[in-house]
Amino acid sequence: MRRPFVVGNWKMNLNLADAKNLVRRLDHETVGIHNVDRGVAPPALLIIPLRPELQDTRILLGAQNMYHEPKGAFTGEISGPMLVDAGCQFVIIGHSERRQHFGEDGPLLQKKVKAALDIGLDVIYCIGETLQQRDGGETNGILVRQLHEVLIDGLDWKRITIAYEPVWAIGTGRNATQDQAQEAHQHIRLWLKNKYGPDAASQMRIQYGGSVKASNAKELMNMPDIDGALVGGASLVADEFIAIVRAAIPK
Ligand code: PEP
Repeated sequence: MRRPFVVGNWKMNLNLADAKNLVRRLDHETVGIHNVDRGVAPPALLIIPLRPELQDTRILLGAQNMYHEPKGAFTGEISGPMLVDAGCQFVIIGHSERRQHFGEDGPLLQKKVKAALDIGLDVIYCIGETLQQRDGGETNGILVRQLHEVLIDGLDWKRITIAYEPVWAIGTGRNATQDQAQEAHQHIRLWLKNKYGPDAASQMRIQYGGSVKASNAKELMNMPDIDGALVGGASLVADEFIAIVRAAIPK
């Protein structure tokens, strides 16, 4: 049985005061929920000041990105050891905004995933097709390519979550239908089975991401291969975020 995992990717939003209020409400109003993992990935500057707020809560602390080198002359970057030192438990790698705006590609992301796992961070690895690729019937091929070029042999798959995030659904208000999402998740699970074996396929979590909100979370979470959500915009609003965590409670 896979435990659903709901993560708020706050992107470049919120100040410290608003972030503290949000996690306090999230903690308070989901405190009795034991069968859904949840976490937040704040902007890097908020990680350290939020850490005490999250102590003694069930909310995991993560980062939105990291660099693969542990230290050195890489102006503006943050390394895995720094994230661990700051209290992070997981890191998001390969978000489509990193691919699109910052030119992150397969070879770089492969290094990042490996470096994160090596230093002890769990990884949420994001994949997804553009609208043009979907319309061109390339969805499955793109997903397989993004999996294949980054998830190499020998990785500790138990510490990797896949986030299927169709690029056309991110921040657009247009989510994949539950059937479109399920079909992609099923395809990803098949690839995981071929790569890492049946245990990995049945145990690895695959989140859906792309305009998840309170009003559509339940129908998506009800699908057999969807194990939670990576949530952008709606995770900035306490009522929405809390409702999405509730919607992920297994039946
Ligand atoms: C995301 O940033 O990962 C995301 C899915 O954003 P949104 O929920 O706003 O579409």
